[in-house]
Amino acid sequence: MKVHCIGCGVVIQTDQPNELGYAPPSALNKEQIICQRCFRLKHYNEVQDVSLTDEDFLKILNQLGDVDGLIVKIVDIFDFNGSWLPGLQRFVGKNPILLIGNKEDLLPKAVKRKKMIQWMKQQAKELGLDPIDVLLVSAAKGHSVDEAMEAIEQYRNGRDVYVVGCTNVGKSTFINRVIKQATGEQELITTSHFPGTTLDMIEIPLDDGTALYDTPGIINHHQMAHFVGKKDLKVITPKKEIKPIIFQLNEEQTLFFGGLARLDYIKGGRRSFVCYLSNAMQIHRTKLENADALYERQLGDLLQPPGKDELEGFPELVRYEFSIKEGKTDIVFSGLGWVTVNEPGAIVAAYVPKGVHVMLRKSLI
Ligand code: GDP
Repeated sequence: MKVHCIGCGVVIQTDQPNELGYAPPSALNKEQIICQRCFRLKHYNEVQDVSLTDEDFLKILNQLGDVDGLIVKIVDIFDFNGSWLPGLQRFVGKNPILLIGNKEDLLPKAVKRKKMIQWMKQQAKELGLDPIDVLLVSAAKGHSVDEAMEAIEQYRNGRDVYVVGCTNVGKSTFINRVIKQATGEQELITTSHFPGTTLDMIEIPLDDGTALYDTPGIINHHQMAHFVGKKDLKVITPKKEIKPIIFQLNEEQTLFFGGLARLDYIKGGRRSFVCYLSNAMQIHRTKLENADALYERQLGDLLQPPGKDELEGFPELVRYEFSIKEGKTDIVFSGLGWVTVNEPGAIVAAYVPKGVHVMLRKSLI
């Protein structure tokens, strides 16, 4: 009989300590067996890197077309576009998709939840997704998780449930919360990611003989998270409600977001720019004419993250110029946050590390 790790779903083996799924033989006596990798992760908080290739990603998506069930797609609302799985609609066949925006707790209090859901619906449509419903939750805080469970119960209509999402959207946190609320059990799935679980769907039996499947997280290569070290990742990832910071800028002024990104205000008269970033991010204002020299001199010092020890291999910043034609537009720095411009008619240049996405969208707030 095969025994699976309760943390990641891998098949347990007791012969090869350096291979996937290893657990010491003594662990087999326990009722709930956890592999060594998950054990380390849980007890020593050793996060290890994921190695999921794009090919694996396609394999997972292709499987979804052959199943009969409800697809629950989770996105991180702080990094909505960066955590979007493109093309999902094509892969799922006739299966309905329930779209869940997670990390609601990061939104400023002033944001109306209804408006946010409306915005998500509209974005989904523009991105080619036709969800059966759209919900907003905080898996970490447990906000609206009951509501999400009810919706899942309603839309699955007695069928299996497949939860998909790219890495770091909080998929494991959400599923753990659901299991806990449904069964009273604690922390079944390891709330992080590690190699080897790539193609193993984790099956969580539901009461009626059907199951909820956790699929592996998928990497979106253009997220800022892949370009910074672990220490810096802590700085750029918001932990609490985001406190927006407003700058009144004149033409030819520049904002630096640490050394990770830069925004030049080129033309459009004096106006305000509202920054939604992790509260731990340092923002520096300077004159546009001094900006290049400042970056060269101060990257890793005044302008960090990236810290001095993370500079090696850090990509150069690439400049993208935008003309803002509509009112209330967000300039989105994938994985870092966004800056809202309230009035049309501004010309700006946004800089991000080579490989990271930057884009305009209709303002979320
Ligand atoms: P997965 O890779 O999608 O399975 O994501 P995890 O469940 O491992 O969570 C990724 C990160 O997001 C962790 O640092 C979590 O603490 C954090 N996280 C998960 N859910 C929430 C949430 O509702 N709010 C906030 N602020 N953070 C969350």
